[in-house]
Amino acid sequence: MNEHILVVEDEEKLARFIELELVHEGYTVSKAFDGRTALEEAEKNNYNLILLDIMLPELNGLEVLRRLNKSNPTPVILLTARDAVMDKVAGLDAGAVDYVTKPFAIEELLARIRVALKLHGTDSAPAKPAASEKSEGTLKWNELELNEPRHRVTFAGREINLTNREFIMLKVLLENMDIVMSRDTLLERVCGYDYMGETNVVDVYIRFLRTKIDEEFGVKMIQTVRGVGYVIKSE
Ligand code: CA
Repeated sequence: MNEHILVVEDEEKLARFIELELVHEGYTVSKAFDGRTALEEAEKNNYNLILLDIMLPELNGLEVLRRLNKSNPTPVILLTARDAVMDKVAGLDAGAVDYVTKPFAIEELLARIRVALKLHGTDSAPAKPAASEKSEGTLKWNELELNEPRHRVTFAGREINLTNREFIMLKVLLENMDIVMSRDTLLERVCGYDYMGETNVVDVYIRFLRTKIDEEFGVKMIQTVRGVGYVIKSE
C-alpha cells in the first residue's frame, strides 16, 4: 500500500507542485488549504505523514499541530519561513519531527520525508540502525569518528583539528547522512538562524573540511550535489 501524505499548504500552486513531486515518488497525496480542514482531514483519515505549512488561514499550523498531537501519532514535518525562528522552536516543542525552510529544494524535502517515514512511520517495521547512528555520542563514516561530547574527530585513530564551525558542519552532515543538505540549511544549522551573511561561507567550510579530511586521508567524503548542496553518503 502506498504511504498516504497530507499536504497542508494554502499557496495552491505550491501545494500542487509538492503533490506532483510526491505522486511521482509513489506516494498517495491529499491536500488541505487551511488549518481547520487539515485538522478534520487528519482526524478522519490515517495518514502516514503530514506536511504542514505554518502560515495558514483559519487555524495556523502550530495550532493545528498542538491540537493534533493530543491524539494523533502521525509524524508532522513543518514548512516554515526562513526567518521564523520562534516558529521552528515552537514547532519542534509541539511535537513536529522535522522542519523544512521555504524556499526549499524539492530533493531535500523528499529526503526529509523518507527519513521521517523511516524513523517515525506508524505501521512499518522498526528502522534498521543507520550507519551514522550514535553510539555514545559518536558519529562514524569510513574510518572517521566524530565524538560529540569530547569535541574530537579522528580518522583511523589520528586526530583532526577542526574549528568550531567546521566541527558543527561535519556533525550536521554526518547526522543527516544520505540527505542532501542545501546551502541554506547548512548555513542555518552551522551559523545560526540569525546569520545575515552570504551562503558561500558554507562552501568555504566545506573546502576546509576537504583539505583536512579528504586530501589528508585520500577519501571522498563530502559530495557536491550540483545546484543543491552537499551530502555525505553512507558506504
Ligand atoms: Ca502559507
